[in-house]
Amino acid sequence: MNILVINCGSSSLKYQLLNMNDESQLAGGLVERIGIEGSRLKQETPAFGKKVLEVEMKDHKSALENVLKALINEEYGAIKSYDEIDAVGHRVVHAGEKYSASVIIDEDVIKALEECVELAPLHNPPNLIGIRAIQELLPELQNIAVFDTAFHQTMPETSFIYPLPYELYEKYGVRRYGFHGTSHRYVAQRAAEMLGKDAKDLKLISCHLGNGASVCAIDGGVSVATSMGFTPLEGLVMGTRCGDIDPAIVTFIMDKENLTIDEVNNLLNKQSGVYGISGVSSDFRDIEDAAADGNKRAQLALDAFDLRVRKYIAAYASIMGGVDAILFTAGLGENSADNRKAICTNLGFMGVELDVEANKVRGKEKVISTADSKVKVMVVPTNEELMIARDTLELVK
Ligand code: ADP
Repeated sequence: MNILVINCGSSSLKYQLLNMNDESQLAGGLVERIGIEGSRLKQETPAFGKKVLEVEMKDHKSALENVLKALINEEYGAIKSYDEIDAVGHRVVHAGEKYSASVIIDEDVIKALEECVELAPLHNPPNLIGIRAIQELLPELQNIAVFDTAFHQTMPETSFIYPLPYELYEKYGVRRYGFHGTSHRYVAQRAAEMLGKDAKDLKLISCHLGNGASVCAIDGGVSVATSMGFTPLEGLVMGTRCGDIDPAIVTFIMDKENLTIDEVNNLLNKQSGVYGISGVSSDFRDIEDAAADGNKRAQLALDAFDLRVRKYIAAYASIMGGVDAILFTAGLGENSADNRKAICTNLGFMGVELDVEANKVRGKEKVISTADSKVKVMVVPTNEELMIARDTLELVK
């Protein structure tokens, strides 16, 4: 059975076609600059390799039309006809409190997602456009929605409630939702498999450290706390997002700098984080290079980032009354030995002992703590697309 996985962003679209008989990737690709001049489609298949197509794509529907055409292209495609696609799994960012697991998409689901647009104005609209486009282009196929928020619906109220007037939760749904759920769920499952244990018997802390970053406490296989909140702005210091700050700073800088709501939102989401502190870049590789060249603000950005991850790890261990393994995933978590080492510094008091040699690993599953370390530390590359395809397969079976 072949499953097409689609992840529609505001101006980009990522996709993978997976053969679920052996979970192999038949094709993977990316459409960039949708609706902007210079849009292009990049596709890679094991047989042909990379293909880049410069095509005008004015909206997500035309992007998906081109994706489907590329998949069946005789020269660089992966399949002969659309009949070889059995179902489509969509990444959807926000399901509010409505769904705690993946679902088959029908009109009720679409209505619920439309209601969530207010909670995720940048993400849910393109996700919905992608779903509608596939319904039009391949009307006989079942569509499944896999939500970023769903995994965190198991958080207890003590974890998700904000100390604001309770009516704001009741009236507008102001609470912690959490994101990156598909990734945290995947790495937790893989870690349990790697350790040869049942997820039910494990206390895990998953650190998804990419451009967007979050930490999640997973007790007995379910999320009990996570650092992103009402929006993906809360928690860790990120590429360009500030994470936790004193909320009074918002009104203070609005007043001082004469900023509108949009402008302050932009400042907190796009001009802050390690980019804001360093003034160098939002990409950790650039910041590491600058720090190595003696740039003090770049070093400060890295130190502030690492400190906050460490703070969340210790806090989440205390919430669960212990931790069996700390997991690192996503761009930085999978690849940066220096940051992993810095994050684990001072965690010796809770039984974390990093194996410096093993920690040199990049992008591969590996236990990177010493044999004696009470808490295991592991690199577990994430695979959200595979998780979406597995959920899709499960639901259409
Ligand atoms: P997202 O999906 O949120 O855009 P990724 O998971 O792809 O993010 O992670 C991107 C981040 O990972 C970038 O900031 C990048 O610099 C960082 N990264 C990737 N490889 C390395 C590396 N070898 N060393 C340090 N940082 C890295």
